[in-house]
Amino acid sequence: MINGSCLCGKVRYQYKGEIEEIAMCHCSQCRKAQGGAFATNSPVDTDKLEFTGVEYIKEFQSNEFKVRAFCSNCGSPLYSARSDVPDKRRLRMGSIESPFSCENKYHIYADSKAQWHEITDEHPKFKEMP
Ligand SMILES: [Zn+2]
Ligand SMILES: [Zn+2]
Repeated sequence: MINGSCLCGKVRYQYKGEIEEIAMCHCSQCRKAQGGAFATNSPVDTDKLEFTGVEYIKEFQSNEFKVRAFCSNCGSPLYSARSDVPDKRRLRMGSIESPFSCENKYHIYADSKAQWHEITDEHPKFKEMP
């Protein structure tokens, strides 16, 4: 069981599954949405992810297919979801509180990375999505 929350704690979640992979996304949209060098996301099963405080979750329509969900009180990013992949959400790893480990990490949109940021680890780098 994985537990997590936004910064203010109004939105909390439980994930009844394992974190099996972590994508470090360097695309310009994720960088803006997270306010960081990259986003850390994991695809999780929608039906195993349960939220409380759903009234605080706001979904921003990032493009035609994709929403980016965040807490409307504190602004913390929570997940993204694509309308054509309804059984998956891409959970934002920074919101997780439970200890867990996952060595299956990789970089996506590595060519779009911030000029000021260097990727120095040995995890696989993909130009776009693998
Ligand atoms: Zn919040
Ligand atoms: Zn991205």
